[in-house]
Formats: sequence, structure tokens, C-alpha cells
Amino acid sequence: MKILTTIYNRRLSNHLSSLNMQEKLRQIPSVSSILMDQHISNLVDEFSPEVITKLVQNKLGEIRLTATCTSEIPTISEIVNQISNHVQSNWTDWPRNVINATGVVIHTNLGRAPLSSESMYAATDSSKSYSDLELELNSGKRGSRQARVSKLLSALTGAEAGLVVNNNAAALMLGLSALALNKEVIVSRSEAVEIGGGFRIPDVLKQSGAALVEVGTTNRTYVEDYEREITEETGAILSIHASNFKIIGFTSTPSISDLSNLGIRRGIPVLHDVGSGSLLDTTKYGLAAEPQPQASIAAGTDLCFFSGDKLLGGPQAGIVIGRKTYIDQLSRHPLARAFRIDKMNLAALTATLIHYLKKEAETKIPVWQMISAKSDDLRKRAHNILNQISSNDIYSIEIIETESTIGGGSLPGETMKSVGIKIIGKNPENLASKMRKGNRPVVSRIEGNTVIFDLRTVLPNDDDILATVISENTQE
Ligand SMILES: *Cc1c(COP(=O)(O)O)cnc(C)c1O
Repeated sequence: MKILTTIYNRRLSNHLSSLNMQEKLRQIPSVSSILMDQHISNLVDEFSPEVITKLVQNKLGEIRLTATCTSEIPTISEIVNQISNHVQSNWTDWPRNVINATGVVIHTNLGRAPLSSESMYAATDSSKSYSDLELELNSGKRGSRQARVSKLLSALTGAEAGLVVNNNAAALMLGLSALALNKEVIVSRSEAVEIGGGFRIPDVLKQSGAALVEVGTTNRTYVEDYEREITEETGAILSIHASNFKIIGFTSTPSISDLSNLGIRRGIPVLHDVGSGSLLDTTKYGLAAEPQPQASIAAGTDLCFFSGDKLLGGPQAGIVIGRKTYIDQLSRHPLARAFRIDKMNLAALTATLIHYLKKEAETKIPVWQMISAKSDDLRKRAHNILNQISSNDIYSIEIIETESTIGGGSLPGETMKSVGIKIIGKNPENLASKMRKGNRPVVSRIEGNTVIFDLRTVLPNDDDILATVISENTQE
């Protein structure tokens, strides 16, 4: 009897709640009532009746699914607001430009290297018209999109030839697939690492169809360690620059020229992934030495790999330079087609490389302008910005000495003395978040109870906007 009562009670309560639920669902506005709203009909004019009706239907479906007996059903104007917000934040141009005040010059989350004006115009120009991308204008015959950039890379680095693909990860994958499929690739234990963003050397090797042979120890590896593992099965020796970490203390790695000599002696191609690859000498700027692609070639490597949008300061690209016979082998591989670089990036990369040929990289390429910026100039800019900000009682705003980093997997642990603006006040997270979410998003750095804006990575043209954003957000 007790059991029966329980069942009866449960049924009754289910029945009541389903009545409640039906009542709730009836409160959901109709599609047509939403479409009649002025804001929504403006959106219909701007986009199309089909996509906006679909959006409204989806929104109402979502409300129906998440409604419970006790929840409030949103009103027409609330629903209209949600739909307008959705359109405003998703159906507009993207990515949005942000001001990078983090002090990290090559910030992968912020799109890495900003382009020089010449590179930007080259990309825009190539995009709005047809071009001779794969046509030889002289002969009227089919041409190669790689021919021009290969010559530029040779002129810059002394390599016999060059090839560019979508990014350095793709370049490495292509190189390994083309030269070491079903073969072994010898890698030092200290270099079988994760580069970042899930890019792990052992996995790349596996995907490219090559078998990893690890040699040496985590801290010390010698040429003899490599030599001992060379067999009939060896396809390549691969050396990877430790871009985003540093092993210090009792360490040893063979120089790239020692490895190259071994490769030549045993007839094995030596591949060198330098990661960022700096064509300029970073020690000139008080930084540690970042490997240089031209030095890698001079030391005798067969192929050297580096990124287009790290210290080169160009668009996203993966660059391979080295011996022509290997470059040709890579070009003919099916993955070369799959990893093909597009014309806008190729145009921007060409313009960036020409800056180096003209010896104007430091003055024209934004990442080098930032790296070479003098503290005195940064301080002047900071004063200029501070003068535009009216003082207030809530926040204390001052100029500080700070330290910038290169980032983007280059020169780990290396810093550059910089100048910034510091805002001291309670809840720095809140202030930083407000400034990220504004009309002109600013990305800053939080240290303790302060928000820091490092001017080294702020494009000088954005100084006035930064001043306005700081003023607006520190007033109330
Ligand atoms: C950054 C990096 C890569 C990946 O380059 P992407 O251009 O980002 O694909 C590969 N190897 C090293 C050593 C790197 O530092």
C-alpha cells in the first residue's frame, strides 16, 4: 500500500509539473512576434530574412530546451537583445585589431608578427587582382609560385634553393616525409620535445612516416652518439633548436657543423629546424644569439627550416632552404601541394625578404623596430601618453621601468629593458578585463596589484588610442 501511494504521488507530481511545464512553454514568444521587433527587422534588412529567421528559431529552440518549471522565460525584448548581441559579436569583421601592451614581441595568441606597410600593401594588392602567380609573362608558359621567393632566399642566405609552405610545422612534416618515409631519423634526447600548441617532435616524425631514433641523454649528446646509430635504415639526422626552453648547467650538444660533417661523411642528409630563425644578429640588441639560417647553411646543413612570422617579421609561412636536390625532392612531394602557401602570404613574404636585402629590416619591419627601440624613446612616448591622462583619486598611474620578452618560441629567458605605464589600484583583473573588452581592445600584463602597459610592443601609431582607453577606464 505504501509503495502504491508513492507511485501515485510521483505520478501526480509528474503530472502537475508537466502541466506547469506546458504553461511555461506557452510563455515562449512566437517567431513572428520576434520578427516584428524593429531591431530584428533592421537585421533582416541588413542580412536576409532567411538567416535572421533561422537565428530566431534557433534562439527560441534553445530557450525551449533549457526551460524548467521554475526558470523565468525571457521577454521579447530580452530575446531581441540576445539576438542583436549575437549578430554584433559574431557577424562582423574578424580578427579584431588589438593593442599589444604585454611586452611580448612575438605573441602567438595575438597573431605573431605585425607586417611592415610594404608587406601589407603587397598582400592587399595581390588579393584584389589576378596576378602572374604561376605564369611566366615572357614565355606565356606555366610558371612556379616558388621561383621568385627561392631566388630571394638564396640571395639572403647563400643556400642553393628555397621553398615556402603554409608554416614551419608543415615544412618540417614535408621535409621528413619526403626524405625519411619508412626510414629512421636520429634526434638527440634533449631535442625530442614539444614546441608548443601540441606540436611534438616525436609525433611529427610518426605522422610523417619516419621512425624516431633517440640518442644521447637529456643534457649531453655527442657526435659519436649520432654516428653509432647510423645504419642502412637511417633517412636523416634532425637537429631542433630548443626554442621555448633552456637546459642549463652540465650540457653538451654537437655544433651543427660537426653534425653536417658527420652527415657528409656518411651520406646522410642533416636537417636543422631553427624555429624562429633570425636573419639579423640578435646579440646586437643585447640578446643571446638566436640561430641564423644563413649560419646553418654556411655550416653545411642540407636543409634548414624556419618560420615566416617569428623573428623574420613576415606573414605566416614555413621556409625551407638548402641543397637544390633536396628542395626539388620536397617540391615534388604530394604534401607540398597540400601545404601550399597562398598568394597573399607569398606577396607579403616577398616584400619582407626584400627589406632584408635592402638592409632596411630594422627600420621597416615592426618586430625589429620594437626590438631595436631605445629606452629613451619609449620613455618619451610614455610621458606623452601620461600627459593625456587626467589624474584621479581611484588609481595611481605612473611610468615604470619594465622588461619585455621576445616570445613566440624565441630566446627563452631573455629580456629587454623597457618602459611602460603602471596603474596601481584594487582589482587589476577587473581593469584589465574592461580594457580587453572595449571598442579598441588593449591586452596588458598584470603584476601583483598593478596593470602594466609595456610600450615596446605598442605600435607608436596606437599611443593616442592607448591614452584614451586608459583615461576612459580609470575615470569613474
Ligand atoms: C615555432 C616552431 C615551429 C613551428 O613553426 P610554425 O611556423 O608555428 O608552424 C617548429 N619548430 C620550432 C623549433 C619552432 O620554434
